[in-house]
Amino acid sequence: MTATLLDGTAIAGEIRAELSDEVAEFIENNGVTPCLAAILVGQNPASQVYVRSKRKACEQVGLESVLHRLPEDVPQDDLLALITRLNRSSDVHGILVQLPLPPHIQAARILDAVHPLKDVDAFHPDNVGRLAQGRPRFLPCTPHGVLQILHRGGVPVAGRHVVIVGRSDIVGKPLALLLLAKDSPLGPQSANATVTVCHSRTSDLAQITRSADILVAAVGQPHCITAEMVRPGTAVVDVGVNRTPEGLAGDVDFAAVRELASHITPVPGGVGPLTVTMLLHNTLAAARLQMVA
Ligand code: NDP
Repeated sequence: MTATLLDGTAIAGEIRAELSDEVAEFIENNGVTPCLAAILVGQNPASQVYVRSKRKACEQVGLESVLHRLPEDVPQDDLLALITRLNRSSDVHGILVQLPLPPHIQAARILDAVHPLKDVDAFHPDNVGRLAQGRPRFLPCTPHGVLQILHRGGVPVAGRHVVIVGRSDIVGKPLALLLLAKDSPLGPQSANATVTVCHSRTSDLAQITRSADILVAAVGQPHCITAEMVRPGTAVVDVGVNRTPEGLAGDVDFAAVRELASHITPVPGGVGPLTVTMLLHNTLAAARLQMVA
């Protein structure tokens, strides 16, 4: 069997077309253009690429974006002062702090300072807590992207065993919360999974991954999910983005696993475009919330 390709670029295109219409309608009804403020500290080349692509995507769907560039050695208090200013600005609806931040800055203090109604990455404890309680304000971007790719790719999750490899606060943990919930904005078929979360201390990882109906890899190690770890017929979502001498690689050994999986996402062109798209979705959602707040 060769797996059906879950084409993240095409699915992201579909959602962006829908978002463009919704943004145009919002602007017409409110006379306000939703605006994302991005904060980029230092010169990290990957971060610069990510911020550029997020701003370009905003433009494509009719959202405004502003970029605040700060030097690598910016004092933490200056960064906090900028966030306070953006929190108070009625022209800014979403705030994105591009990670990673330099070591002298406490990332948790910065992310906690973003107003929960402008927290389009859904990193604020208030938003994480709401997600854990099954009443999210914003869905975290990458996990939401995984849900969308499965939903639009025709892979139901309700009642199925999803194994997630990786327990980070950005991907593994919030994805587990979304999948465990009793409902989702995409309907109950995109929730109600039985979820197992694995990590670097998991014993006999391959035995667990082979029990998955849906396997999500969010590890950060190129090709660490091999064909031996995947049962034939499993749907495989590869969140990993790893820079290798041969170019970008996922966490999954794509060439071997595609021969036995039912569905598979490529890297690049899988989850990545969805992550950016769900950020746009959250910026519009934030603007809507602020209109009624
Ligand atoms: P983290 O480094 O924060 O987390 C990696 C997780 O993988 C940890 O929980 C770690 O376990 C686990 N892990 C590491 N080695 C193993 C192993 N040998 N066996 C089992 N588990 C292991 O990474 P992120 O979650 O932030 O990112 C994961 C990947 O996804 C990266 O490649 C990243 O670039 C990519 N990514 C892609 C996005 C997209 O839009 N496509 C968005 C965000 C991330 P432990 O907790 O025990 O250390």
